[in-house]
Amino acid sequence: MTDILLTNGRVITQDADRTVYENGAVAIEGDRITAVGPTEELTADYDAEQRIDVNGGAVVPGLVNPHTHVSDILLRGSFSEDRGLLDWLYNVKRPGTLAMDPDEHALAATLYCIEAIQSGVTTFVENDTEVIWDDWADIEAKLDVYDRSGIRNVYGAGMVDRGADPTFQELVRDIQARDADVDHPPLDTFVVETDAVVDEVASLMEAYHETASGRQSVWPAPVVVETTTNRCFREAYELAEAYDVMTTAHVAEAEAQEQRAISSIEYLRNVGYLGERALLGHCVQISESDVRILAATDTAVAHNFMANMRLATGFAPVATMLDAGVTVGLGTDNSILSDTVNPLSDVGAMASGHRGYHRDPGLVPAQKAFDMITIDAAAAIGRRDSLGSIEVGKQADIAIVDLDHPHLTPSPDPVFTLVHNAQGFEVETVVCAGAIVMRDRELQSFDDSVDEILTAASETASDLVARTGFD
Ligand SMILES: [Zn+2]
Repeated sequence: MTDILLTNGRVITQDADRTVYENGAVAIEGDRITAVGPTEELTADYDAEQRIDVNGGAVVPGLVNPHTHVSDILLRGSFSEDRGLLDWLYNVKRPGTLAMDPDEHALAATLYCIEAIQSGVTTFVENDTEVIWDDWADIEAKLDVYDRSGIRNVYGAGMVDRGADPTFQELVRDIQARDADVDHPPLDTFVVETDAVVDEVASLMEAYHETASGRQSVWPAPVVVETTTNRCFREAYELAEAYDVMTTAHVAEAEAQEQRAISSIEYLRNVGYLGERALLGHCVQISESDVRILAATDTAVAHNFMANMRLATGFAPVATMLDAGVTVGLGTDNSILSDTVNPLSDVGAMASGHRGYHRDPGLVPAQKAFDMITIDAAAAIGRRDSLGSIEVGKQADIAIVDLDHPHLTPSPDPVFTLVHNAQGFEVETVVCAGAIVMRDRELQSFDDSVDEILTAASETASDLVARTGFD
């Protein structure tokens, strides 16, 4: 028996042929897609418990966000924006997120999930870069919210097993001098001995490896090159192999951090961290030779265009990566840097940005840009076989976008419309693992109303910012 039949949609399958059914339907049974095709055929063949008439809307794979951060969402708009990466990281994000208690992390996670669901996201990879491994209270508070949200999450468990070198520490102290009133955490706050952090992450992976919902997983996530030992990188990769997941790290986001005789990509290759289980966030400051290494080792990249623009770290060589066959997904990174967690609001800017930068209008066509938030993002997180497209046998993760808006009219090519015209708020209904998590903009996930959650988030955010003391 079919549980849900979506009819009369413009079904953008993202299958290998990039098939679009102009009057299409999708049948869902349990958590899987069981049929995709013309509405006429599916309505004749499938009797469904619940039929949803999409009425000309776009039916797309649930969006996959391969690189994001959650807790700092409460710091949105609360700090002066003329900050580069290290100024923002050491004066704003670290002091701000470290001042949060588990309830505040849970509230941040709830706000995050509401925005993500309303934006059509069904899978996101959180990079938790500020983890104190004394207990799991903050982590569990967030993972509990994600489970209730109804969508999928990957928790990237941050690993830091060495302090930064003295020159870098001095640089950070000079940067922190800008905000003398802020209670800056000591620079070695997150450093944990290698065996201890590997054990903690392995235990967390074990605990969440087979959750009842099947929608959660944990990846080992060495934070950055300069605070990770060779052994930690290797053990992170081995953990990913042991649990059949991926591992992720921030790499070459800004030049100031990584100036060595060998590039960070060469270094990671040499220590055994590159390969099909590695997803590298950013890769802004890398060379053509580095890109060849990524391609040769089948290492994927999470490109975070808007965050790179906002922090002025530069243009990642995405055009070169795509030419070389590197799998690239588009992430939103920190919700206070792209200023949203909404992939459809970033994707058009990303595609146009690379064209303008290279003065080449042929770069990153709309179809490729859309791939980067669906099938390519799924491939980048190692889930190509189950997520990222609407195909028989895949997980029933689907977003329905209402195209009946002035700014989306006319829409001769729905892929172009979604990449260059949609803002993201036009998502009406979201299905994840065959369950409806939002129907006609009504969220099904949380007990409190969206209005109540937004009010609580605003109040908590002002209190947090006042406590932290930055501006
Ligand atoms: Zn990041």
